[in-house]
Amino acid sequence: MSDCFLREMDAFLDGAGVKHFSAKEIAPVGKRVWKDGKSFDLQEPPREKWAHILPTLEVLEWLRAQVGPLYVNSGYRDPDYNRAVGGAAESRHVAFNAIDFRSKTKKPKELAAVLETYEYAEALGVGIYPAFVHVDTRGVFGLTAPARW
Ligand SMILES: [Zn+2]
Repeated sequence: MSDCFLREMDAFLDGAGVKHFSAKEIAPVGKRVWKDGKSFDLQEPPREKWAHILPTLEVLEWLRAQVGPLYVNSGYRDPDYNRAVGGAAESRHVAFNAIDFRSKTKKPKELAAVLETYEYAEALGVGIYPAFVHVDTRGVFGLTAPARW
């Protein structure tokens, strides 16, 4: 089941021209994670949400071309898991539109500064955290943008 999902999602990403990010990175379905003594088996993003991640991956493919390999901390979050980690109810991760990522060579604030030079930076949500950067493409979906924190 999750193998099937990962195969289908990888084919979907490949068909959309995503070259450097895999299904397993952005939606590690079946992975068991623990939060406050409770376990969660990460769920699949519903198929109607799959396309939501593509504009965000386009941004990350662009960023990768500027700064080199990027490593995904968190992509899709199902609603139960999102609640457990204290995510906002309207989290762009639940919408499968957000990715938290890091680089081995650039600090989060350096990565965020490069994102500001992206052609459509005004459509982005960008959050700088101590160990990673959050990016989403909320403006593409008619939500208020830009957003920075
Ligand atoms: Zn995030």
